[in-house]
Order: sequence, then C-alpha cells, then structure tokens
Amino acid sequence: MNDKKKYGFTTTILHSDRQKAIEHGSLHKPIHTSVTFGYDDARELATVFQGKKPGYRYGRQGNPTVSALEDKINRMEEGASTICFATGMAAIGALAQALLRAGDHVVSSSFLFGNTNSLWQTVAGHGVDVAMVDATDVGNVEAALKPTTKLVFVETIANPRTQVADLARIGKLCAERGILYVVDNTMTSPYLFRPKVVGAGIVINSLTKSIGGHGIALGGALTDTGLYDWSRYPNILETYKRYPMPQWGMAQIRAKALRDFGASLGPEAAHHLAVGAETMALRMERECANALAVAQMLEADDRVAAVYYPGLKSHPQHALSTELFRSYGSLFSFELKDSIDCFDYLNRLKLGVSASNLGDTRTLVIPVSHTIFYEMGPERRASMGIAESLIRVSVGIEDTDDLVEDFRQALG
Ligand SMILES: *Cc1c(COP(=O)(O)O)cnc(C)c1O
Repeated sequence: MNDKKKYGFTTTILHSDRQKAIEHGSLHKPIHTSVTFGYDDARELATVFQGKKPGYRYGRQGNPTVSALEDKINRMEEGASTICFATGMAAIGALAQALLRAGDHVVSSSFLFGNTNSLWQTVAGHGVDVAMVDATDVGNVEAALKPTTKLVFVETIANPRTQVADLARIGKLCAERGILYVVDNTMTSPYLFRPKVVGAGIVINSLTKSIGGHGIALGGALTDTGLYDWSRYPNILETYKRYPMPQWGMAQIRAKALRDFGASLGPEAAHHLAVGAETMALRMERECANALAVAQMLEADDRVAAVYYPGLKSHPQHALSTELFRSYGSLFSFELKDSIDCFDYLNRLKLGVSASNLGDTRTLVIPVSHTIFYEMGPERRASMGIAESLIRVSVGIEDTDDLVEDFRQALG
C-alpha cells in the first residue's frame, strides 16, 4: 500500500497496520502483553529513555499494540500524533492534569456529557477557574475569555440534548487569541466530522463508543492536530522543550499524565478497539439512517412532546449540522407527553435495551435524569435543557423497519 496516495476513510483504516513491518505475516497487529522491553545494548535503552530514539521501555508509557491503534486514530483525525488512554474520561482527565495549573481559566460548553461536567467541578476544586457557557453562540465564549484563559472546551454534538456548538466560529476566535481549542468528537466520530477542519488543536475521542462500536472494550484518545502553536502555551515545562515545538504538548501529556497517573490502555482492549475501528464507517451509515427514521416517526406522533436530533429540520442547529457533518449521528433524545410514563415506555420496548453506553451495535435507551444525570440535581439539569422525562436513544445497526416499529408500538 502506497502511503502517499490518499485513500478513502475505510481503506485507510483497514490497511494502516501494513504501513509498519508486519510481524510473522500477521494481518492484525498482534496483542503484545509484555510489560517491559529488553535491549541488547544498554546504551540504546538509555537513548530510548531520553526520547532521542523511538522505542518501548515500560508498558505504562507505550505498547506496540496500543501504538498501532494510536496510528489508526491519528489517521482518522488526520492528526500529527495521538495518545490512547484506558477510557475517554482518562483522556479528558489527562488533558487537565498535564496542561492546567491553579489560577488558570477554562471556558467550557455548559452542554456536556455528565461525567465531563463532574470532572470540571473537580478541576475547579483544584484551583482552576472554569466558566460554563452556552457554546451554541460564539459570543458567549468570547465574553467569557480572560487573559488567563488557557483552553476552550466543547463537544461537537452535546450528549444527550444534541446542541451543536458554534464550532467554526469558536475555532476562529481561539486562533485569533492563541488559545488552545479542545473538541470532544465522540458524538460525531471522525467519520462524520474532523474537528481539525474548524481549527481544533486537540481532539478527544472516547473509543468505547462508535470507534470500538461493540460495547466490549473501554478506551479513549487525545489527538494533536498539529494546528496549535505550543510556543504560545505558558504551562510547558522546560524539560519538554527539548523536543521540536510541535511535539511539546503531547510530550508533556505522555509524561505528566499517562506516565505519572497511569491510566494506560491495555493491549487486549486496544486489539478489540482496533478490530471495531475497521467497520466504523459501515456501522455509522446504518446507525445514522436508523436514527433519522426513528426520530422522524416519533416527531410525527402526537403522543411525543419533543424530539432532539440534528437531522430533524426542527433542530435549531440543523443547517449548521448539514454544513459541518457528513451525517447527524447515532444518538437522539426525546420527551413523551405527560400521559405516558417514561419507565413504562422503556419497559415496553422489545429491541431497545435499557442500558448506559452509546455507539453500540445494539440500540440502547436510558432515562437520563434518573440515571447518568441524577447526581448533578434538578437545577443543573434544567440549565442544560434536560427534562425529567428525557429519554436518550443510542441507535444501533438493527434493521430499520424493526426499530421504527418497536419505538412505535411502545407508545401504547
Ligand atoms: C462516553 C463519553 C465520554 C467518556 O468516555 P468513556 O470511554 O466512557 O470514559 C466522553 N465524552 C463523551 C461525549 C462521551 O459520550
């Protein structure tokens, strides 16, 4: 395979393992379970430790099976480099641990995955000032910026209410001010959208979701797109400035977060995720088509109070989503009229499984306020536009007619 030719998404990901030496003819990257890596020449070991030569030393900082997955994710995002972590939250936590210090300021979208919302509260407790703003309008982000703002954080499509951030304008604002722009791409996946296109410096993916896609392994990744000028980032320690400037951020994240906090991805999980990644585009095509069909059916039914899906013309950011994304994603949420109890509805579904997680091959449903958003309380839920009866649906790859019929019959 000629590395210079530009192939399509799936071709590139399928054949990426062949860019490096194939071990024993093995077409899938083997699962390397060794924790440590030996050297015939002790001087070579020292060179690897000093970062003067690529190589493996100890499994917490790197592993060949994990590296092969990092390479796949990096190709998906057309990034400069990628680091994998044990989970998506570990990736976001690593970013905060490695790059933020007490006294720094962060501007974050207030429409966030629940655990990320909780993580920002923890970071605030460590002395970082976190401003939560409605990021569907760049004006709110701009108004919140301070001289101490180190990064702006948004999700592409917010989990679970599907608000779409003003992605391109926020990117432009960050570029003008020299601020690091961090985009969580989990809900769109690199198949539907590359945040690099709107100027993101760092892209986050929970590999647990669409990329792994089968609900059998946890993982997360940070990708440096190569767009951010790290010489403008004040918190880089002198020791990481021994690398070329474009590598400063990731060198500090790999050492200060992955090495020191140790949320490393295991090789078995990396293997499962890499196998899943090969079919992501195929699954996403089916999931997006299914999501649109079910969302349209529900919206047309007068027993349903509201449906939130960027693919619907009624969605406030429908036009923006059409402009930015290849399709509208596999997740939507909806509210039933008061006459239908959301628990009864979920119990009548035969195919939709009541479970957390998303991006699985199976359709998963969850009553948001009573589960994943329970801990934050009613006030914060209301500020995020989350009704007490909101149901989140992660649409799987079932046959479209079966799914539409299941969600219809459960209306009673
Ligand atoms: C699930 C999710 C995460 C966290 O990923 P895990 O792999 O579950 O830790 C982060 N961001 C978004 C948008 C998610 O949906």
